[in-house]
Amino acid sequence: MITDLLNPWIRDLVPYSSARSEFSGNAEILLDANESWDGGNDGINRYPDPFARELRKKMETVLGIPYAMSAIGNGSDEVIDMLIRMFCAPGKDSVMVERPTYGTYSVFAATSNVSVIDVPLKGDLTLDEELMVDTIKEKKPKIVFICSPNNPTGRVYPLSVIERIAEENEGITAVDEAYCDFAEGFQSASSLIERNPRVVVLRTFSKAFGKAGARLGILISSPEIQKVFMKAKPPYNVSRPAEMEGLKALADYDSAMARCRETILRRKAFSSFLETLPYVSEVFPSEANFVLIKVSDAAALYSYLLARGIVVRNRSSDPLLANTIRITIGSEKEMETLKEALLGWK
Ligand code: PMP
Repeated sequence: MITDLLNPWIRDLVPYSSARSEFSGNAEILLDANESWDGGNDGINRYPDPFARELRKKMETVLGIPYAMSAIGNGSDEVIDMLIRMFCAPGKDSVMVERPTYGTYSVFAATSNVSVIDVPLKGDLTLDEELMVDTIKEKKPKIVFICSPNNPTGRVYPLSVIERIAEENEGITAVDEAYCDFAEGFQSASSLIERNPRVVVLRTFSKAFGKAGARLGILISSPEIQKVFMKAKPPYNVSRPAEMEGLKALADYDSAMARCRETILRRKAFSSFLETLPYVSEVFPSEANFVLIKVSDAAALYSYLLARGIVVRNRSSDPLLANTIRITIGSEKEMETLKEALLGWK
């Protein structure tokens, strides 16, 4: 039972009841929420919908995410934070992550005083399935985070591997699919939820949809977990302007997908270009909107590019990623400038 996995204080929480959720029907005079009476023409004087219903309905039609299985966070970062607060007891429970991966799983765990078990990837930067399963059995983490395509490696993990890990894991398996739209033939872990409701999926409007500034993250989960998320999250976590940005992105879904296809083509061309550079010893295969490379001297290359006004990410701090740089795929013009700079190094 999912409810057995929840922190008891979350399970038994009496949620904040917002003014507007206490009445149903139509009303013309809203004097219930201590808002300003003057909002100009855009209605921004009113609090936003706590449940982002308009956006979630649109997500059901455009993205095929069932309404009862979706929730919106202030970025997927908030979803990560909330999952930890919902399921992990401070000072007692742990989460498990692959290493290297996206950094905020560990940071949010730390802010909740939840310990982090990290399981190194294999040398080729794929998941060490056996080590993960053995570690899950031994340490019983409350949440296992799996990022696919992984940041910073760009690797997609086979759905069968994720499915097995999620089955062996008695806790929650949270699959972060932030970059899924850049992966060709991607199979989402959301298809696992029906059979295994301990699986939850994270998506975001920040990457393929180009709305990082709006802060819109998506939780896809069993309706049971979705309901708990709705009652435990901050009441007005998604602003109305943000929700509008999400609606705009979905209204223009085709151009977002066209932009993804363009990004994929550019990633492939850029990866081939990188292969020709003498100081690049490895171009890791990526299915995201970035490429990870191994170079002769990452710190020196980083500084060289920075001096030319180009910022990339030096990922060398992880022992598995010595001398690696992660480069986001930018516009055609940006990539041309970058290529010229790369040709001029050493
Ligand atoms: N997950 C991954 C794997 C990411 O790389 C990022 C951002 N770089 C996020 C989540 C955060 O996304 P959001 O902007 O929705 O908070």
